[in-house]
This record gives sequence, structure tokens and C-alpha cells, in this order.
Amino acid sequence: MSPDPSPVDKRCPRCGQGFHCGITDAGPCPCTHVRLDGPTLAALRQRHADCLCLRCLGELAQQGIDTGSALH
Ligand SMILES: [Zn+2]
Repeated sequence: MSPDPSPVDKRCPRCGQGFHCGITDAGPCPCTHVRLDGPTLAALRQRHADCLCLRCLGELAQQGIDTGSALH
């Protein structure tokens, strides 16, 4: 048996991909390296009660959260 260092224990509510959340790991979760601005983070917490996968966090950090309404 080979222990998996990153078990897939969550499912991203945004894209549906399984991913590993490191919130209970000894080290810091990789998602702590993704920087989201205040409004994006607030909107994210309103929309999704759970963590998102790193890919989605990275997209949101770059593009801002998709609010479902065209603002521009
Ligand atoms: Zn995702």
C-alpha cells in the first residue's frame, strides 16, 4: 500500500471535479496561496459554502467571480 499524500476528499461545487482540501493537513492548504480580493471572496462565500478546487480558485483570482449577470 502506498499512502496517497493528497486524497481526493472533496468535490468542487463550481466545476464538479474531485479535489483535496488541505484545511486539515499539517501544512497550509495550497489554496492559501491563491489570492482573492475582498469582493470576490465575499461573493464566493455567498455562492459556495464549501471550498473550491485550486483550478477554480485560480480562475476566480484572475477573472473575478462569475456573478451570472453581465456587468459590462
Ligand atoms: Zn473547481
